[in-house]
Amino acid sequence: MTFLDKSVWQGKAFSGGWKQVGGGESAVIEPATGNELGRVGIASPADIAAATQAAAAAQQAWAATPYTQRAAILRRAGDIWLANAAEIEDWSVREGGKIPPAAQFETHVATEEVFEAATLPGRPYGDLLPSEQPRLSFAERVPVGVVGVISPFNFPQILAIRSVAPALALGNAVVLKPDPRTAVCGGVVLARIFEEAGLPDGLLHVLPGGADVGEALVTDPRVGVISFTGSTAAGRKVGALAGQHLKRVHLELGGNSALIVLDDADLAAAASAGAWGSFLHQGQICMTAGRHLVQEAVYDDYVARLAEKAGHLPVGDPASGQVALGPIIDERQRDKVHALVTGSVEAGARLAAGGTYEGLFYSPTVLADVAPAMPAYASEVFGPVAPVVRFATLEEAAKLAADSEYGLSLGILTRDVMRGLELARKIPTGIVHINDQTVDDSPNTPFGGIRASGTGARFGGSANLDAFTDTRWVTIRGEIAPYPF
Ligand code: NAD
Repeated sequence: MTFLDKSVWQGKAFSGGWKQVGGGESAVIEPATGNELGRVGIASPADIAAATQAAAAAQQAWAATPYTQRAAILRRAGDIWLANAAEIEDWSVREGGKIPPAAQFETHVATEEVFEAATLPGRPYGDLLPSEQPRLSFAERVPVGVVGVISPFNFPQILAIRSVAPALALGNAVVLKPDPRTAVCGGVVLARIFEEAGLPDGLLHVLPGGADVGEALVTDPRVGVISFTGSTAAGRKVGALAGQHLKRVHLELGGNSALIVLDDADLAAAASAGAWGSFLHQGQICMTAGRHLVQEAVYDDYVARLAEKAGHLPVGDPASGQVALGPIIDERQRDKVHALVTGSVEAGARLAAGGTYEGLFYSPTVLADVAPAMPAYASEVFGPVAPVVRFATLEEAAKLAADSEYGLSLGILTRDVMRGLELARKIPTGIVHINDQTVDDSPNTPFGGIRASGTGARFGGSANLDAFTDTRWVTIRGEIAPYPF
């Protein structure tokens, strides 16, 4: 029996062991072939209620478990992830349509998230506070209790584990609702890993489902914090619902990140970085370079180089191992991408490369002569599309880049790094890379967007402590305090 053997999870979800749940089943489809890879159990809102109850019951004993034991379980989870990486990556290629290097990147970052979280239980968890009274006064971090995690399809392991691991490490129980389209990588993988790592029963529940199941998790009174990663539209609903229930919510949402190419940049390297930033995982990354802003002196050259690259990147079944781009996740998403491309061409953009598809395979697309109002530039495409806009001055570049509802990532390519940094300071985003494209992730760095991209950086190091604990003021005196009454 293999680690992800279907006999364990077929038709089931993980909540107090593997079992059938109330929302029926959903087929896991391989987007490259249309083949059914298996069937996962789909939860109902009632399953969420049962899970949060069991989670709340298990959490206090977990929080009281010696910190060394919590850390050891997390380290074991990371080791199990690594030991089974090849099988997990194979699922990632087939279920998610990832090319093998992207699948390997995902397991690498996911395991590092677990190892980084394993350092949290041993860190200081409070502050001693000066007091006017003869007493000990301190601020103590306490687990939230039950944390709800809602995650999307595009990097399902990372975007689930980056919340699940620190939340567990800090003494919480977790109910995870992955996207049903990638419920194996985003759900079964995590459940199997923590099952094998010896996480006590009741602390992790994995319940795939749709928006109704996600909303049940957000409104459940036993859930203290929601960590949501997904689209801005769904994030707004989750945020509003959480607000009604006075619940803390972390929102990691969409983006339309700018890659700015200044006229002194090495253009061969810039075009290579630009192609990676826009076409990796078919552009289905929140940090994708969604807007290329290029200074006029090098504009034509850059467009030609990027189009040349796009024209030569092979697209096809990633299980063949021979392609640079795999399929788009489903038809709905492909049609959305194509409508944004054709809408832009109708509005006057020039197709320098791509713009066509076969099945779910969308060719890497470069749109030139783009104006900011065109749909592929103005909206998040979430597909392999690079709209390229021209600018003259740095002031114009700053204005163009900042003129977006989003604020996730930013890349600036220039030989003059101080000029790049000065420009970056005028453009509000949560992440900026000078002399790199917009896509990157690492477990020890602050990660998060501002504006419509989310509620700000909350992953990495101490940000996880803020995200997944409550702070409590505690005082202790040797004798009962004297009062005049
Ligand atoms: P989506 O918002 O449709 O779905 C994301 C998750 O939310 C899924 O599990 C879905 O079932 C659930 N969901 C949807 N509506 C809900 C609701 N009303 N209440 C509760 N849960 C709900 O996202 P998608 O289109 O599948 O994913 C791509 C989007 O995610 C893009 O916009 C991308 O930029 C964004 N994203 C952001 C980050 C980040 O870190 N900022 C990372 C990856 C993806």
